[in-house]
Amino acid sequence: MPQISAEQVRNDVNEWLDGAWDPSITVSEWWQRLAASGYASPMLPASMGGKGYTRDLAMAVSTAMGDRGVVGPPMGLGLMLAAPTIAVHGSPEQQATYIPRILDGTDAWCQLFSEPGAGSDLAGLGTKAELDGDEYVITGQKVWTSGGQHADWGMLLARTNVDAPKHQGISYFAFHMHQPGVEVRPLREMTGRAMFNEVFIDEARVPVANVLGGLNNGWAVANTTLMVERASIGSGGGGGGLGIALPGTIAGHMDRPVGDFVASRTGSSAGAVGGNTVTMLTALARKVGCIDDATVRQGLAELHTLTELNKLNVMRSRSGQGSTGVEGNLAKLLLTHSLRRAREIGNHIIGAQGMLWGADSLSHGAVQELTVFSPGPAIYGGTDQIQRNIAAERGLGLPKEPGDFRTTPYRDLPKNG
Ligand SMILES: Cc1cc2nc3c(=O)[nH]c(=O)nc-3n(C[C@H](O)[C@H](O)[C@H](O)COP(=O)(O)OP(=O)(O)OC[C@H]3O[C@@H](n4cnc5c(N)ncnc54)[C@H](O)[C@@H]3O)c2cc1C
Repeated sequence: MPQISAEQVRNDVNEWLDGAWDPSITVSEWWQRLAASGYASPMLPASMGGKGYTRDLAMAVSTAMGDRGVVGPPMGLGLMLAAPTIAVHGSPEQQATYIPRILDGTDAWCQLFSEPGAGSDLAGLGTKAELDGDEYVITGQKVWTSGGQHADWGMLLARTNVDAPKHQGISYFAFHMHQPGVEVRPLREMTGRAMFNEVFIDEARVPVANVLGGLNNGWAVANTTLMVERASIGSGGGGGGLGIALPGTIAGHMDRPVGDFVASRTGSSAGAVGGNTVTMLTALARKVGCIDDATVRQGLAELHTLTELNKLNVMRSRSGQGSTGVEGNLAKLLLTHSLRRAREIGNHIIGAQGMLWGADSLSHGAVQELTVFSPGPAIYGGTDQIQRNIAAERGLGLPKEPGDFRTTPYRDLPKNG
């Protein structure tokens, strides 16, 4: 692909928006235009509906769109995780079946990985897939399934071989959520929202043709999803100022005017820390009158430093130079540390007001939102401890955890009752 600068990308996006953005069309029509332009998921290759951009050029796209205050591409795990995973591991037929419907918001996806007994130890998962003719019959329980209540499809990990060691007997399925035997129960978090769910699967069915990346090769496919997830979380997502609408058949956004979603953001931006957070907290400190407090000043300077470090980390990752292969893990760790520090500094600034909720409170609820959301990113996409384990083993070459779990058949592994 010929070299193109971020500035050129921003100009191209602005020019395209002049003709394409229209708040009176439906969300569905807007996303069809966005998908046709290649800007819905610009990191995908052009042959799969993207632009073949690097992560920083993709960020330039979302920044340009955010600056114009338009509605962003279909929010959620389809665009963030499923499309890039299918682009790498899907057959041409699977790519043609799933990716266009993700890009134009027709289908919403969720990630059916974690189970009550398999989070950090994801490879220990017990949901089983048993062959019956040209279908697999799936039975098990998933948990912490973000967006499961709005999902049409799930990226499902299930065990297809109990005689193989645990990493080698897993397959990755495109799993249709609207079928008998699938029950989604929302779980309420301390933010007051129910972002994630429990999903109970009782003899649901999935065609053999929906295995992604080959039978019993699910661990490799899942690692692609997880690597994309960590890099996306670590880079903060970008696109502040974008309106948010939800894709798929359940949320009910597709047939509404896209202009309805410009001002009313339905999602949370509390999962990212950037220059905006430092600016917001600095303004807050001035308003409250503690900008001369040495501890507050030191905290703000620290947060600014962390933000700049994260930018450099992301740039290093994109350049491919001096690569350790764990830049995504490091970027995620730095982000979760920055979130915790932003939470602490924010609460130092607003003091007892931190206990009040809602837009009428000091900081219009932003610090409070940050406070209750901040533990999440240190858990999802792999906990901080797991990121450190990966950095130690894959980046520094330290020995893996002891034990013979890598060679013992799954059926012989000790399990909780
Ligand atoms: C907001 C949110 C959204 C989520 N969304 C999804 C989703 O959409 N789909 C999905 O599949 N999952 C999702 N998750 C689940 C998430 O991936 C898991 O919670 C996470 O992997 C941790 O697993 P666990 O909760 O079972 O904790 P455990 O694995 O039981 O870990 C408990 C503690 O032990 C530590 N620990 C465990 N093993 C080790 C080790 N080997 N070395 C050092 N420390 C260790 C952990 O770091 C943690 O502190 C979400 C979680 C959250 C909080």
